[in-house]
Amino acid sequence: MWSVVGQDKAVTFLQKSLEKGSLAHAYLLVGLPHVGKMMLAVNLAMAINCESSDRPCGKCTSCLRIAAGKHADVQVIELAHIAESGDGESKTKISVEQVDQILHSVNLAPYEGKYKVFIVDGVEFMSIGAANRLLKTIEEPVENVIFILLTSNQSLVPATIVSRCQRLELLPVSTETIEKGLIELYRVEPEKARLLARIANGCFGWAVAAIQDDTLIQQRTEWLDAWREMFIADYDRRFTFAAKMVEKYTQNRSVVQQKLDLLLGWWHDLLLVKADCEKDIINIDYQNELIKMAAGYSLGQIRSFIARIQSAKEQLRYNTNQQLVMEVLMLNIPEKNTIENLVA
Ligand SMILES: [Zn+2]
Repeated sequence: MWSVVGQDKAVTFLQKSLEKGSLAHAYLLVGLPHVGKMMLAVNLAMAINCESSDRPCGKCTSCLRIAAGKHADVQVIELAHIAESGDGESKTKISVEQVDQILHSVNLAPYEGKYKVFIVDGVEFMSIGAANRLLKTIEEPVENVIFILLTSNQSLVPATIVSRCQRLELLPVSTETIEKGLIELYRVEPEKARLLARIANGCFGWAVAAIQDDTLIQQRTEWLDAWREMFIADYDRRFTFAAKMVEKYTQNRSVVQQKLDLLLGWWHDLLLVKADCEKDIINIDYQNELIKMAAGYSLGQIRSFIARIQSAKEQLRYNTNQQLVMEVLMLNIPEKNTIENLVA
């Protein structure tokens, strides 16, 4: 009973390894944020330690304790939250101390289960020291210890770490599968499920988080509002916006990447409208506005701005001059032919 939606290939692979007793000592799960990496990692930890013959059963003490994050042998390392910031800001690195704290227990026997499982979420955000420390540990496999490393950007994970892991790629989940999963597993009303499945854009975990936390949808609306304002703003306001984004980037990189993803989704929707494929747009709750807006731009303008957004995302990842990257992006927002349509 794996409770991972839309990742059948990875699940089948892991299930077979489990049955054959051929589990790797380190896995690298690669996929978009919220695509299901943590869910799969927790399910694997459950399957490995499950007390039933049909693993993971989801019902035994071990499965329940792991699912609740209370099992002594399953530990998660992730970006630490800075308590004082108050708005969910997180540090940009996983520190040596964080890794050390957990790893010192690697050589101790499992306390309550069969295996010790260490899940490292956001392995691309490890400091060099932390990565080296981790590498040393996975280079010398310890019996009954399994590492599950999660990343949404493999290119930032040291190749030495990647080469020591069994790599599994989690692909975006289809809209239909997300919609079905939300209705069947989470009893979401069909209309809401349809909207969430679209906005989730392949990431089931995001949709699940959104049904549990209304602020996610609210946040999306706020971010989209800010972008939509920028489409018609003068250069002064665009530059102020760019400066704010850069400031944000130094505090929380993933938020800025998420905002850019949202922008990319919007312009991709415009492209779909332009190509008469409205039925495939993500932002279905803005359909009318997208149709109106698309009329004001040429296909070439939309395409070239999409390329600009993609390149800005890439450049930010590799620490190029962030201010410049954002300013160039803002400068390149295409000029609309008939602005009145957009405002109306
Ligand atoms: Zn179980």
